[in-house]
Amino acid sequence: MELKVYGCRGSYPEPGEDTVRYGGRTSCYALQTEAGLIILDAGNGLVPLGRDLIRKFGFKGGIEAKVFISHVHGDHIEGWPFFTPAYLKGNKFSIYGLGNVPDKLTEESGRQVKDPETRTLLLRRRKNRMDLAMATSTQAGRHPITFAMQKVIGADIETVDLDLPGSEIQGNVDGLEGVAVEYMWGNHPDGALVYKITSGDKSLLFTGDYEQGPLLKTSKHPLTFNRLWEFDSFLINFISGVDVALMDSQYTPADYERKKTWGHPTAERSLEIAAEAARRAGKKIHVILTHHEPEYTDAFLDKRHWDLEQFVAKENLFHHITWELARDGMVREIKA
Ligand SMILES: [Zn+2]
Ligand SMILES: [Zn+2]
Repeated sequence: MELKVYGCRGSYPEPGEDTVRYGGRTSCYALQTEAGLIILDAGNGLVPLGRDLIRKFGFKGGIEAKVFISHVHGDHIEGWPFFTPAYLKGNKFSIYGLGNVPDKLTEESGRQVKDPETRTLLLRRRKNRMDLAMATSTQAGRHPITFAMQKVIGADIETVDLDLPGSEIQGNVDGLEGVAVEYMWGNHPDGALVYKITSGDKSLLFTGDYEQGPLLKTSKHPLTFNRLWEFDSFLINFISGVDVALMDSQYTPADYERKKTWGHPTAERSLEIAAEAARRAGKKIHVILTHHEPEYTDAFLDKRHWDLEQFVAKENLFHHITWELARDGMVREIKA
């Protein structure tokens, strides 16, 4: 498998002279597997990914991808309306995710929408919530072409809900050929999914957004009512055995103290979780720290790199992990 980072910034795009080296684009990664292209998240890093695909395939179709959305906060879907391949016939996309749009928001935006098809879609609260979620990325007033219209004039686009019934914490995506995709409930306001993708003998974990510690009430999982359920232990079990872990690492410990319950961990905790998972599996994990806080400049992230090196050395984590900070444009071959 080959991974290319198209957007490693968290929360909102932050282009400018202070973010040139790490990049300012929001969450998006391309994963070439034995079963074709997988796209993780559709933040505005999806826009240059679309350009790369057009460069390779042209405007006559033939682009196919499975798109796995960790959750539908803006920084994970805002690139979709500007993804050129979605407007071209002969291309094919399947979008998978949680579709965690709050009912209230869905009703409100449905009333405001002028396009009758999208309004009906929003107001009826169709069973397929991923369709509703993607519709919010292109809703009328925000973008001239709605998701519903895009599907009529453009690519063949299907949306698939990845539900977890009852208090289930994990599931498998059915019907995929040549690749296995498992998912787990993330610890994040409005809920999120963590994905594990296995192609041949190689595997990658993508956390999307998550916070360390007990399950957040705002994550809307039934287990949040039992405070004994620690999210970290689920994640450690889920990561064990993977080759590469692409992990949310938004905060420094000091910022985390001020931003608890905002839905993101410290980079230190992500490294510890991956190291513990690797120790248990007896197999090293390469950790790519991502979803960088938008306020962190290139100079600050360089210093952060230095601090994390000291941390890894002091805590003896280097026995179990190798690690690096994600940068937009970075390419990594995933070896077993
Ligand atoms: Zn995010
Ligand atoms: Zn989020």
